[in-house]
Amino acid sequence: TLFKVGGGGGYTLYQSSTSFPPCFCVATVSPLGDSPVQISCPSCHQTVLSKVDYSAGLLTYLFCGGLFFCGFVLGCCLIPFCVDRLKDAKHTCPTCKTVLGVYKRL
Ligand SMILES: [Zn+2]
Repeated sequence: TLFKVGGGGGYTLYQSSTSFPPCFCVATVSPLGDSPVQISCPSCHQTVLSKVDYSAGLLTYLFCGGLFFCGFVLGCCLIPFCVDRLKDAKHTCPTCKTVLGVYKRL
């Protein structure tokens, strides 16, 4: 994302260092997101496309708690769209089923 800094005369363009949320780096093995990535499996030493399983993480429970306080009717409309977005993504090797890493939301 480019944004302009300073007014008046010359201005400088800065490119933001990252296009991902800050929590992206919490992954245990390598930068994993919530979608399948190409990764070298440490177990079977093949470059594979990781298989992603979603599991309910801390944020999911916080979200449920938030629903409780903020009004259930409003939240219900949103659940089908973002429930997977709130879950931890576990990357596994499709070949040997080794867990390659877990992407956590928090
Ligand atoms: Zn493997």
